[in-house]
Amino acid sequence: KASAGPSKYEVSAEAAVDLAKRHLIQPWPYSGSIGTEARSLIGSGDGIYIHDGEGRRLIDGPAGMWCVNAGHRREELARVMYDQAMELSYNTPWYTMNSPSAVLAERIAGHAPGDLRHVFFTTGGSSAVESALRFMQFYNNVRGRSEKKLIISRGGAYHGSTYLSASLNGRPRDRDWMDIAGGLVVKLTSPDPFRRPAAMTIEAFSDFLVSEFEETVERLGADKIGAFVAEPIQASGGVIVSPPNYLPRIRQICRANDILYISDEVVTGFGRLGEIFASESVFGLSPDIITFAKGVTSGYFPLGGMIVSDRLLADLRRSNHPDAMYAHGLTYSSHPVGCAVALANLDLLENGILDHARDVAPYFIEEMKTLEDLPLVGEVRGIGLMACVECVADRESNNPLQLDIEVGKRIDAHCYALGLLVRPLIHMCVMSPPLIITREQIDDMVAILREGISRTMEDLRREGVW
Ligand code: PMP
Repeated sequence: KASAGPSKYEVSAEAAVDLAKRHLIQPWPYSGSIGTEARSLIGSGDGIYIHDGEGRRLIDGPAGMWCVNAGHRREELARVMYDQAMELSYNTPWYTMNSPSAVLAERIAGHAPGDLRHVFFTTGGSSAVESALRFMQFYNNVRGRSEKKLIISRGGAYHGSTYLSASLNGRPRDRDWMDIAGGLVVKLTSPDPFRRPAAMTIEAFSDFLVSEFEETVERLGADKIGAFVAEPIQASGGVIVSPPNYLPRIRQICRANDILYISDEVVTGFGRLGEIFASESVFGLSPDIITFAKGVTSGYFPLGGMIVSDRLLADLRRSNHPDAMYAHGLTYSSHPVGCAVALANLDLLENGILDHARDVAPYFIEEMKTLEDLPLVGEVRGIGLMACVECVADRESNNPLQLDIEVGKRIDAHCYALGLLVRPLIHMCVMSPPLIITREQIDDMVAILREGISRTMEDLRREGVW
């Protein structure tokens, strides 16, 4: 075990499992096991590896939840959290401020495209998206456009677990048993080229998506639509790489119709695509608001935020309502410990990790793509250091496998036994390793994934379900 030694609060793996089953509600539980469930216990982490309760070493394939970008157990990050907490562990952002948040805001603004120069800090991605949506509502209220509030989102999207952010989520599973602010949100087709109508070229698919957007604006009226929200790459939807040029075209239509373009870079930001922000550098678009979280602290502290353009704030200052309040703020907005660790993390990204990520990304994608020779695999797609293996029932039709086979979970179980943590998504597996992964480690990861998929194929054949 590579940890620096057990923490004061560590108990045996058995005891932890027992306590969790009795007292811990895990995220995303099923009603049949809520409050009684134990999951794989992770005891420690080191670089791209984590160690489970039984001391098994696993490659952290999803980098936690696409967040441990700088890798586990970085002393530089741990130290700065200790130092900052010893200096100032908290201050109320209501009527005081701290220095790390101001320095971080300037550093982040320096990386953001266009005139996105003002940063509001939150506690994570959901609260970042929520803040951006409430900002849009406030912005339009202050400008006397209180009817202009509809939000356009897309199938396959994931934007969070708070009420309004979750209302944007596109996957049916996320909505089946949960209420949403339905009347406020309009969903468009997922820009998933793999699932585009048969016989449609990518260009025609792109045209279709753009005209769907135009028709929606026409039908509902630009005076009713406040924002378009999109991940540059749909992450939890299965690493959906949309057709080239589609997002910039949507961006133009937004600009022409006074619709705020909110780019959700919670996953793509802070290095996953080799850049601090990908909106402009990778996708050629300059949004009105960018939301970020996860990689901003490499997962060492819960922090997120939104970056708002100069233009929007100037509009507010010029409005007829100088006393209108953006009544929105979190106890932990601008948290000094979070902002300090984010600064140390930015140092790491700027001084080597981004270069490394750009260097290994093509190799990562190329190696992942070799899995396409396995008959269960319909497609491997990806960009930067994020990729997805999509399994299909048969490769002629590309029809999906039956939901109840949960092929992603099966692959995950085999890979886990072989030393790799996978992020299963129904019939898909996502890989988004820490950005520090080397070529040799990529080889190990892909070899295990290949073996895990092969074993899954054998199981499915034996059971006669594939
Ligand atoms: N936006 C995107 C694109 C995400 O992937 C996520 C989390 N997976 C969120 C928002 C929500 O972030 P959080 O879980 O930190 O609230």
